[in-house]
Amino acid sequence: MRAMLLEQPQSPLRWSECARPEPGPDQVLLRVKACGVCRTDLHVCDGELTQPKLPLVLGHEIVGIVEAVGERVERFQLGDRVGVPWLGGTCGVCRFCERGQENLCEAAQFTGYQIDGGYAEFTVADQRFCFPIPLKYSDAEAAPLLCAGLIGYRSLVMCGDARRLGIYGFGAAAHIVAQVARFQGREVFAFTRPDDVAAQQFARDMGAKWAGSSDEQPPELLDAAILFAPVGALVPQALRCLDKGGVVVCGGIHMSDIPRFPYELLWGERVIRSVANLTRRDGEEFLKLAPQVPVRTEVQTFALSAANEALSALREGRLRGAAVLVP
Ligand SMILES: [Zn+2]
Ligand SMILES: [Zn+2]
Repeated sequence: MRAMLLEQPQSPLRWSECARPEPGPDQVLLRVKACGVCRTDLHVCDGELTQPKLPLVLGHEIVGIVEAVGERVERFQLGDRVGVPWLGGTCGVCRFCERGQENLCEAAQFTGYQIDGGYAEFTVADQRFCFPIPLKYSDAEAAPLLCAGLIGYRSLVMCGDARRLGIYGFGAAAHIVAQVARFQGREVFAFTRPDDVAAQQFARDMGAKWAGSSDEQPPELLDAAILFAPVGALVPQALRCLDKGGVVVCGGIHMSDIPRFPYELLWGERVIRSVANLTRRDGEEFLKLAPQVPVRTEVQTFALSAANEALSALREGRLRGAAVLVP
């Protein structure tokens, strides 16, 4: 099969021929129909997430058709359309798995990081961590739901009943979260790179009540702010916009250092927290909710062989919505 391989961090992916994987007893073999490009992929490419499997097939927003199944597979059949998320496996026995926090599992395995992912014509995945894809979505439209949507949803849940919600970084995750937030009756305030007029327009198109630059103060104090931009300096900036009792949720897996800031910004029971990975329950809840909203994903498709271009477009903030590779 053809795949885009990461051979070494900080070098471009290479268009390669490699062996088609064989499904293990609990795995399905998928013909990849679409695979989303996530900011986490950039962090792996750049070496900010260390010690990936090498060579590695990136990609953890996979939509594929089941072509073969292992002997213990009972959840899916040949021809089913399934989605593969970032969480690719857990131990099931550690203290986190036992208390329903499998996102924090001590021995978790992640798709497109420790396990080969979806920047390829075929992939294998553990059936227990795959989801059926709602019929409403095309393959490419469904792909961003699997990480941008899922992690965005988990971040939104961490905001509790916040009515005035700030979102920093208006890309793939934000455009999905904004739609869910509006559906839930919240007001969305979008913050973009300074003077990124296109992103601010995109945010307003997705229902934001206000859109401005990340260094601006919104017209009202916020109850919560989600940071999707991997920029630590935004943490104190977001705290400045937060009402007492509010929360700043850091939604990314990697972020530059948070600069020091006066305690006064945190005072008033304001909270800063991160969101790590996802649980299968997040996936079930979100994939049920998405068609009800209905969440509409905006995607820009690229050929599999153009994965490097898609990554560059994401890095440079040139995308409206999500980049999706289509083999
Ligand atoms: Zn992701
Ligand atoms: Zn575990």
